[in-house]
Amino acid sequence: MDLARWLGEAVSSIERWKREYGAFDVHPSLQVSDERVGEALGRLAGRLRDNYPFFHPRYAGQMLKPPHPAAIVGYVAAMQINPNNHALDGGPATADMEKELVSRLATMFGYREHLGHLTSSGTIANLEALFVARETHPGKAVAFSAASHYTHARMCGLLGMEGRPVPADGAGRMDLDALADQLSTGEIGTVVATTGTTGLGAVDQVHEIVPLARRHGARVHVDAAYGGFFTLLAAEGSPEPIDPLPWRAVAEADSIVVDPHKHGLQPYGCGAVLFRDPAAGRFYVHDSPYTYFTSDELHLGEISLECSRAGAAAAALWLTFELLPPTPEGLGRVLAAGRRAAVRWAELIESSRVLELYQRPELDIVACYPAEPTLSAVDAAARRVMEEGMRDPADPVFLSVLRVSADEMARRAPHVIADADGTRVLRSVLMKPEEETYLGTLHARVESLAREALSAA
Ligand SMILES: *Cc1c(COP(=O)(O)O)cnc(C)c1O
Repeated sequence: MDLARWLGEAVSSIERWKREYGAFDVHPSLQVSDERVGEALGRLAGRLRDNYPFFHPRYAGQMLKPPHPAAIVGYVAAMQINPNNHALDGGPATADMEKELVSRLATMFGYREHLGHLTSSGTIANLEALFVARETHPGKAVAFSAASHYTHARMCGLLGMEGRPVPADGAGRMDLDALADQLSTGEIGTVVATTGTTGLGAVDQVHEIVPLARRHGARVHVDAAYGGFFTLLAAEGSPEPIDPLPWRAVAEADSIVVDPHKHGLQPYGCGAVLFRDPAAGRFYVHDSPYTYFTSDELHLGEISLECSRAGAAAAALWLTFELLPPTPEGLGRVLAAGRRAAVRWAELIESSRVLELYQRPELDIVACYPAEPTLSAVDAAARRVMEEGMRDPADPVFLSVLRVSADEMARRAPHVIADADGTRVLRSVLMKPEEETYLGTLHARVESLAREALSAA
């Protein structure tokens, strides 16, 4: 896809529509010369060089990658109009697209009915889910795994709810016995399950958590902000099958959060929250003296805690889904390549003499560490691999690190002597499908950095 060509087309097609309303003069206060634009843009491009190359497979660090060109073109097309998806008054077209998109996401997870909307992020989407949790079970606590995103503890504090961390098991999933203990207090109103933890991509056993929670009258919220689209690999016709059990059970959860700006090829500003029971909308009831006038149909602001939201984000996701739909053979192929890269890399690490695998990847996140005998030596070597990799101007590689406790390490690597309370391990998110073909180069580079780190010690 030729981005420059289709960006040009996105601009000219909207220009054609604008001209239908007749010509008018742009106010002189807004006019800037092309010469000044060129000069200022040059400076901007210069400043933007201070970035890591998120687009390149050598960048295998955090959850970051550029959007698909289709998302950029869709965003730019709509942004020229700048619709606000708060209300139908702010732009009916993108509000309609948003309803279609939310319905597609709900279908992807197996919801038969739903209420939901896009949000500006996974954090806000989770805040909304926890807000509905509080309104449904006032005074009750929320249980979430110690490996869940930090936002749950934080948002519980914000909402004035008690958060109860549940320890994770040796695979980074919520420990079911510990959860059962929590539930048996009768004080838990909602359990948060994570399908794809931010640290390791571990998938909580939603098929066990749902019946357990139900027995104690608790609701279940699934935080699939990172991993949600992996449900396409659990579906029939998956190009790279993963264990379908937890994913099938997601359809029974009371709410789901997924971030199209993580694995849905979107620019930042696109999360989503879905509720299985459309009656959740009653908790959002409010009046707006300014909006909700043009139509009696549902205005998205009526079921959202946010007010203004980019309609362009809906247009971007809409155009992307037209070309790469959320199906196993559409977006599923994109995720499958990253998943294959992760599985293959884990094998290469297991046969390496200088690297050790932290745990088997469930999705596309790989964690490993330099083969050192003590936690403090592992920590120093991991830091060295990360820093030396980034610093090499000729052949850089970008990894991230994850802090793990001595206890978490002991469950996976009992042979490493615990001379500290924890260590950093190397962590790579293989979100880009290009990592699959680049993997040989990536592994060789990380191995050579690890070899240098070991001999430096
Ligand atoms: C990324 C992430 C979040 C937070 O989402 P943002 O879009 O970064 O605000 C919440 N939960 C999980 C599991 C995540 O991976």
